[in-house]
Amino acid sequence: MRSVPSVDIIRLGSRAPVTLPMRVTDDLVDMLKRFHPLYLNTHFNHPRELTPEAEAACRKLADAGIPLGNQTVLLRGVNDDPVLLADLFRRLLRTRVRPYYLFQCDLVRGVEHFRTPLSRGIEIMEYLRGRLSGLAIPAFVVDMPHGGGKIPLLPNYLISQSPTHTVLRNYEGLMVAYPEPYATVNASPAALTSAPVDPGVWHLANGQRNAIQPQGTARQHRRPRRPPQPNA
Ligand SMILES: *Cc1c(COP(=O)(O)O)cnc(C)c1O
Repeated sequence: MRSVPSVDIIRLGSRAPVTLPMRVTDDLVDMLKRFHPLYLNTHFNHPRELTPEAEAACRKLADAGIPLGNQTVLLRGVNDDPVLLADLFRRLLRTRVRPYYLFQCDLVRGVEHFRTPLSRGIEIMEYLRGRLSGLAIPAFVVDMPHGGGKIPLLPNYLISQSPTHTVLRNYEGLMVAYPEPYATVNASPAALTSAPVDPGVWHLANGQRNAIQPQGTARQHRRPRRPPQPNA
């Protein structure tokens, strides 16, 4: 394959580091590293699969300069738990394996009992963001029926938009008005009217407030002296 000029990189997909880690020998990695740039995606589904032997296999591959990724399939009753997956992804990163994809279980005959609703994946992504380094957070993807390919799914972080401001929210529910480059020169007519009572998302989208902070989050204790400021 290396002799094909159009082949930029070679990516191996293998569960051997998980299920047959003793196969990852010095001889094997010495052979593999002659063919760089080489990537390897493996497939850990559960923290219990990260045995000392599996970790040693990953270490050997990473030491040979092979960037390692991981693809996990969401499986009902096996790993469809945000705390369990946070633990898996953190431990993978510590083992120098970058969590790459979290897959919705495919529509394959015979595995219906393993399928989770799409909402479970979204719920898990909601839990991970803000708790783990972005390096430990895979993309949640669903393989689109009819050959549509992979579709990444995320919780909604974009709350609202006007020409001058985009309203974003973070994992804690803090909503902030993000000013667009022309926020001051191209204010919409609505933003020029006086601010009605009962501030809400509309006021963020029109630049009349710059943040709305939920009560009762850890953020208030972390940042006691930095409450949202009224617009300058
Ligand atoms: C996911 C996938 C690939 C690789 O896709 P990347 O997003 O580049 O990792 C290639 N072929 C098939 C059939 C796939 O499902």
